[in-house]
Amino acid sequence: MIEWTQGVRRIGVLTGAGISTDSGIPDFRGPDGLWTKDPSLAEAFTYNRFMNDGEVRKRFWAAYSGNSAWSAKPNAAHRALAELDRPGMALRVLTQNIDGLHQRAGLAARKVLELHGSMHQAVCTKCEATTPGADVIARVHAGEPEPACKDCGGILKLAIVLFGEYLNGDVLDQSKQIAAASQLFLAIGTTLEVEPAASLCAVAVAAGANLVIINRDPTPYDRIATEVIREPIGTAVPRICAEIMAGASG
Ligand code: ZN
Repeated sequence: MIEWTQGVRRIGVLTGAGISTDSGIPDFRGPDGLWTKDPSLAEAFTYNRFMNDGEVRKRFWAAYSGNSAWSAKPNAAHRALAELDRPGMALRVLTQNIDGLHQRAGLAARKVLELHGSMHQAVCTKCEATTPGADVIARVHAGEPEPACKDCGGILKLAIVLFGEYLNGDVLDQSKQIAAASQLFLAIGTTLEVEPAASLCAVAVAAGANLVIINRDPTPYDRIATEVIREPIGTAVPRICAEIMAGASG
């Protein structure tokens, strides 16, 4: 029995790229990552460059149309978190991922806060009309290298936060409230190097939560964690979720 899993009702979970690698989505910065293989691609993910250069947009859409995330399925860790969401449990997932796999695993959309947006929606930067991300990718595959808004001809962009763009203020405020209200705050598969998402750990600890970090590599927040777990996410998260459920009913 692990003490911090007992009697927990309010759980905040912060997830990063590491939770999705078992679903076949490479960590952008990891050894098989997009930017490791082609560092110049980072330019295509920079807001000003994307908005001002059609060639950059073509590179963005070409890179994204081949992204394995479009066909990825939730893995054991996503499923275990979705199963943890049951009556009497207040669970919220704050994710740095844009892949939508928490929702695909069965977690209600309102319980998932997407800090960096979602690749499953595209938005027109001119008229703000939204359209499914997969529909835009289908147009790329059908031979449109740089699809424009069908309503107004404006530049289409995936609803993700590019370099040089701010995070959604409402999502960030809500995330801080969730971190501050949590009894247990789990940070899973994130290096905790990207702010302001990472400092949510400090918010949770300052408010009295137990912080548990599950990540392969050390993070800047390890020293304030109740426990740091190096076990693979695919086994650690289902094990912890089972302990929490057992500890809630006892
Ligand atoms: Zn438009």
